[in-house]
Amino acid sequence: MSVIPMYGRVVIPGAVIYMRTGDYMTLCGRKPSSGEKVTFLMEKEALEKEALQPDSFYPVGAAGVIEEVNPGNYLAVRIQNRVDVEEVTILPDKTISLSVSRRPDLDDLDQEDARVRLERLRDEIIDFSKEYDWGPMLRIQAQRWNSVWEMMGALSPYLAIGGDEAYALLAEDRLQARFDMTEKLLMQSLELARVNTEAQTAQQEDYQHLYREEAIRKQMAYLQKELDEMHPENVSEVRRLELKLEEAGMNEEALKEGQRVLNRLKREGGQGPEAGMLTDYLELLTSLPWKKEEPARISLKDARAILEKDHAGLEKVKNRIIQQIAVMTLRGRQSGSILCFVGAPGTGKTSIGQSIAEALGRAYVRVSLGGVRDEADIRGHRRTYIGSMPGRIMDGIHRSGTSNPVMVLDEIDKLSASYAGDPASALLEVLDPEQNASFTDHYLNVPFDLSDVFFICTANTLETIPEPLLNRMEVIQFQGYTPLEKQKIAREHLLPKAMAASGLKEDTLEVSDGAIEKIISEYTREAGVRGLKKRMDMICRAAAVRLVEAPDEKVTVSEENVDEFMDMHPVRQKTVGSQSKPGVVTGLAWTPAGGDILSIQTLSTRGNGRMTVTGQLGDVMKESVEIALSLTKAFFPEETAGLKKCDLHVHVPDGATPKDGPSAGITLTTALSSLVTGKQVPPDIAMTGEVTLQGDVKAIGGLPEKLMAAQRAGARTVFVPRENADDLRDVPEEVRSALEIILVSSAEEVLSHLGMTPRGLKMAG
Ligand code: ADP
Repeated sequence: MSVIPMYGRVVIPGAVIYMRTGDYMTLCGRKPSSGEKVTFLMEKEALEKEALQPDSFYPVGAAGVIEEVNPGNYLAVRIQNRVDVEEVTILPDKTISLSVSRRPDLDDLDQEDARVRLERLRDEIIDFSKEYDWGPMLRIQAQRWNSVWEMMGALSPYLAIGGDEAYALLAEDRLQARFDMTEKLLMQSLELARVNTEAQTAQQEDYQHLYREEAIRKQMAYLQKELDEMHPENVSEVRRLELKLEEAGMNEEALKEGQRVLNRLKREGGQGPEAGMLTDYLELLTSLPWKKEEPARISLKDARAILEKDHAGLEKVKNRIIQQIAVMTLRGRQSGSILCFVGAPGTGKTSIGQSIAEALGRAYVRVSLGGVRDEADIRGHRRTYIGSMPGRIMDGIHRSGTSNPVMVLDEIDKLSASYAGDPASALLEVLDPEQNASFTDHYLNVPFDLSDVFFICTANTLETIPEPLLNRMEVIQFQGYTPLEKQKIAREHLLPKAMAASGLKEDTLEVSDGAIEKIISEYTREAGVRGLKKRMDMICRAAAVRLVEAPDEKVTVSEENVDEFMDMHPVRQKTVGSQSKPGVVTGLAWTPAGGDILSIQTLSTRGNGRMTVTGQLGDVMKESVEIALSLTKAFFPEETAGLKKCDLHVHVPDGATPKDGPSAGITLTTALSSLVTGKQVPPDIAMTGEVTLQGDVKAIGGLPEKLMAAQRAGARTVFVPRENADDLRDVPEEVRSALEIILVSSAEEVLSHLGMTPRGLKMAG
């Protein structure tokens, strides 16, 4: 007799137990053969065969006959009756020998009721099986079970039944009670399985969604490939874009958008109405420099050398840039404060931006903001517009081809707002380090990181730059060049460049210092060197013609013959002139093109106390005229007494240029005083300063530019507000030493200097 130890499986009379032939042989140590008797012992706890002891078993077991030995791997044992285990012996080979006696059942089962309940259970199981793939197999089996015992025997390996529960069924003598227990166990197990399945499906739904999406994509890719093969002419384009998209290294959001557009393009096909637009978009998106550049190590010495190489002078600017590079290196950053270069045209603002890029070893890109009126110019149009485009910022990034260019935003003072939104606010976002890491162009519709871009803005004047923008930038003034500086720039930079551009070798053309000086003083009138550059180009072109005509003769340009090389007349210079007249005084003005002199003219005619102001003066300047008149009346009560019978006229040429600002106050006061006293003021005496009704002279802006203009125009003496004394440090030595600069704090001082000491002395104090 074979003895098989069991745990957790229900072995009850009427059940058929299936087991592996291999397991059988291990457990009882012999080969199974049909018709052989088998006894099952129930383990109290699950143990390895080696660990079994005589007392490891419950006292009731079961006996059966091997009904079938499957040539495959299985054997089936039909349980026939229960046994009382009397003696257990574990043999040396760990097989078990037994003595048992049969233990009868107590048959109290209600057969009719049992049949009904069996059918109900069968229905439950079949119903349950429907949710599973293996359901059909179970259903076939389920049709075959003739008793609840068979059912239990077949299912018990799949149910989570504890050893004690399995034994309790076997140990129960009364059939009815055993039936009830079996039914209960089956129903519970079914319920448990259901609950588990529901929990799983809830989890699965999330996954399913994902799997589904992935599956659909795969399917689409597959179909696309099929389509591609049918239309090879379209393939290359879409596929190329697809590859570019994968390789561009863009952020997740951009990749998603790109894929969305690509899918649309795929659906539309190459001939669709929007195909062009979608393709353009993808081309741009994929060719943007998404990959981050590593910060380069920069030697300050090399950087300075590069800055020196391209630009003469501009020491302050160069120092500031070196500082910025040092700070960026220390912080390991690719950008720092946003610099704003302010100064007259041709003072090198844009071109030094290029040198900075070179010094940093980075790409240079110039974005012109002149005439920008719409937000869309900065930030792009939404793709729904026909002909929509990215804004200038992203266009610049695209052109630069790197994530960290030096970007010069040119003419930021020429922005204007219009009905279509304020471009300045879009620029704010571009320049704000807090926001520009995710700058979103409307056309691209995905964020792009601008935080590595080194921004430089240029402007001719600060006045028209919106305040919030100005607050974000660090202003660096470019004051324009003195004649000596211009000479140096022409000699060292402009002329060599012009010669190279015209293909002139060094020994073929000689330009004397005198010639350059003459060009500066007679053929240009500017704070910068743009005109000078053009004149140098002009000389070289003319020299080229001569060289072609007479290849062996060196061309020499001197002070005497320089006019022959110029295809223009000398520029009419604005000088202070030499004739003085009562009522006419030289003032100084700051303009976006640098400094300028300003002749302030006054005239009185017979009339009835009217005052006329001409020369396109702004409101502030008109008020300065009123203040000047009141002051003059206070200073010279007697001389002005007769003004009631006169008309006064104040004029400031050039009549066509609008002028404004308070800085002509002292000049107006002096001019009117000169008019009423009849005292002439020499025209080479110039002045600038705001005056108050108390007659105080207050600080003005743009002093270096004004003094340079004064020198250019031939002034000798300049009255400057004492409050501006510090600004004199910014004035080139060459200019300071050419002028007699007199610091003043009141109008009285100026008038006294000029021999018009106020008599009807002014107010108290
Ligand atoms: P801006 O931007 O201020 O109007 P640019 O940068 O366009 O002026 O300069 C005009 C020209 O003058 C350029 O060719 C530039 O190289 C030259 N230039 C200006 N300043 C200097 C300088 N300090 N040294 C050498 N060249 C200069």
